[in-house]
Amino acid sequence: MNPEHIRIVLVEPSHPGNIGAVARAMKTMGLGRLVLVAPEQFPHEEATWRAVWARDVLESAVVVDTLDEAIAECGFVVGTCARDQRLPWPVLDPRRSALEVSANSRRGEVAILFGREDNGLSNEELMRCNLHLAIPTSDAYSSLNLAMAVQIVCYELHMLANGDALPQTSNAEWDEPLASQENIERFYVHLEETLSQIGFLNPAAPRKLMPRLRRLYNRLGMDEMELNILRGILTETQKRCEPVDWSQQNGGGS
Ligand code: SAH
Repeated sequence: MNPEHIRIVLVEPSHPGNIGAVARAMKTMGLGRLVLVAPEQFPHEEATWRAVWARDVLESAVVVDTLDEAIAECGFVVGTCARDQRLPWPVLDPRRSALEVSANSRRGEVAILFGREDNGLSNEELMRCNLHLAIPTSDAYSSLNLAMAVQIVCYELHMLANGDALPQTSNAEWDEPLASQENIERFYVHLEETLSQIGFLNPAAPRKLMPRLRRLYNRLGMDEMELNILRGILTETQKRCEPVDWSQQNGGGS
């Protein structure tokens, strides 16, 4: 990713406070190039106030009259829009869009467009874009505040650009070691045996039960203690059940 090649474009923002909040959102995520297309009021003290320590982003913001000027030299343009107003167009969420933005920023100028607070981006403006970005939201209300939308998009770019921003989780901090594959395999044998004994799994017709259970447990990343608990539950279950004799069941006496 080349952050120097990424510009955030606000199309006709009407609230100066939002412009300041956008500058702050950008700077906290390592981006500094802001382009304003025909802002209603700029510069403005509320923008300065809301930018806090990102005034430099405001001061270096480029103000232009038209979207054409804002994206003239861009090789890749992303248009952001809430889900309910987009056209049938390639649409990605912020995380996947970040991959596209990153790849294209290495080759040239990239613009990410944000729309008006009241009307968003027009269809005509959206059709200028290579890609549409929609932030997944609740069905009940899909329209975020402008600066908050910018924050989410810039956050994903930052996470991608700084692999080390990922929270470090390691087994060293966990109170138990991860269960070994050897023990996990023993658990599956024990589980299968128990499920058969209680009549839940028919060995002659196991269908996809074990693969599904493996997929379930393998998603968890169980530790040794958790595995021991599960093994203990299986052992107690076995002690308390009269094992089903599947040879009788299957044969059915016929
Ligand atoms: N009533 C307008 C609201 C626009 S909100 C509308 O429905 O279009 C202002 C801008 O914030 C939008 O143009 C878009 O750039 C961004 N935005 C808001 N919610 C978003 C979402 N869910 N996904 C992507 N961008 C969003």
